[in-house]
Amino acid sequence: MSSSIDERKLSIDERLSLDNFEIDKESHIIVDTNICKRCVSKVCVYACPAHLYRLENGEIIFNHEGCLECGTCRIVCPLGAIKWNNPRGGFGIHYRYG
Ligand code: SF4
Ligand code: SF4
Repeated sequence: MSSSIDERKLSIDERLSLDNFEIDKESHIIVDTNICKRCVSKVCVYACPAHLYRLENGEIIFNHEGCLECGTCRIVCPLGAIKWNNPRGGFGIHYRYG
């Protein structure tokens, strides 16, 4: 007997793959990368569950597309470099499951 999607445990990646994104051309998160230059830990790179922060030649590159709107980056940033707003109405992630 085959199990339906609701009958079995889904991994985090499987759950996320069910979600939809309405991408806004304007980012709801602004990162002051000048401040990032003083940051030793670069913890955003490791803390963002969507892997939207990356290091390129020692500099932080951020792309808001795919943001899960969890707010983790703002909380963990030790230097207050992240200005986090809610996405504009209708934009952002539309959770489908869990
Ligand atoms: S943790 Fe904050 S200050 Fe450090 S690199 Fe990331 S955004 Fe910049
Ligand atoms: S709000 Fe969450 S998913 Fe979005 S960039 Fe910050 S840590 Fe990543």
